Amino acid sequence: MTSVPTVAPVPPVLDLTRLTRRYGSLTAVDDVSLRLPVGARHAVIGPNGAGKTTLLNLIAGTDRPDHGTIVLSGTDVTRKATARRSRLGIARSFQQPTVIPELTVLDNVVLAGWPHHPKRRGAWRSPSRLRSHTESAFRHLTTVGLADIAHRTASTLSHGQRRMLDLAAALAGEPRLLLLDEPAAGLTDGDIGRLLGILGGLPASVAIILVEHHVEVVAQLASTVTVLAAGRVLVTGPTQEALAHPEVRDVYHTGTKADMSPAPADQRG
Ligand code: ATP
Repeated sequence: MTSVPTVAPVPPVLDLTRLTRRYGSLTAVDDVSLRLPVGARHAVIGPNGAGKTTLLNLIAGTDRPDHGTIVLSGTDVTRKATARRSRLGIARSFQQPTVIPELTVLDNVVLAGWPHHPKRRGAWRSPSRLRSHTESAFRHLTTVGLADIAHRTASTLSHGQRRMLDLAAALAGEPRLLLLDEPAAGLTDGDIGRLLGILGGLPASVAIILVEHHVEVVAQLASTVTVLAAGRVLVTGPTQEALAHPEVRDVYHTGTKADMSPAPADQRG
């Protein structure tokens, strides 16, 4: 009898179990469990103060839970420092782009990728290693459409270009999980279209968690959604089902404007 080789199951890219974060008497994230497969395109939405940014902070490690666990691709990272999580594959792009204005566009990405590069040691003494860093950075700038202005100083970029640079810097670590905090905030319609094209074109090896108020961005990018309200999971599931859920419609004003800010009290059902 021939034995059939067993294939080890691929662990979820992210497995949150009963995550809770309290600030005094306020529970910002309340007993949140979430399991995302490799390559997930997941959005976390909810009204202001629902706990979305706190949840991203807990995953990235800039904040610590009072309770619960965070497992990244089978490794428990709950107690690991932010830098360690970053080397294990978590990257983050912020509402306010975190670029270094005095450096060139290219140097910003080289610097962001440096701690992750397998040939980082002694790179400054080795032209071939430095070239390999620079080539990686150019690849990411090409992905976000900034390769043509790689040698410009970052301070000369528009807000939209800074956001793309921040995204290239996040990609420089070759992440398995990319956390995006309101990537469309402050962008023009043209920039939002470009952003959607870029994020939609990322390989399936990069899972995305997106916190976003623009419903079109959520609908176009995310295949699944978690809706938070007062720190708790209201609904989680396929995007269209979650957005259409009666409780979600109660929480949001989803009129003609593509905006998921909470409705003024007099507009709620
Ligand atoms: P928004 O859409 O407005 O960004 P959010 O869903 O991201 O909101 P959070 O920023 O996670 O919400 O905040 C959740 C709750 O926790 C809010 O009531 C907020 O005031 C509170 N909070 C967040 N950080 C802290 C902190 N460091 N100390 C005390 N309270 C905090």
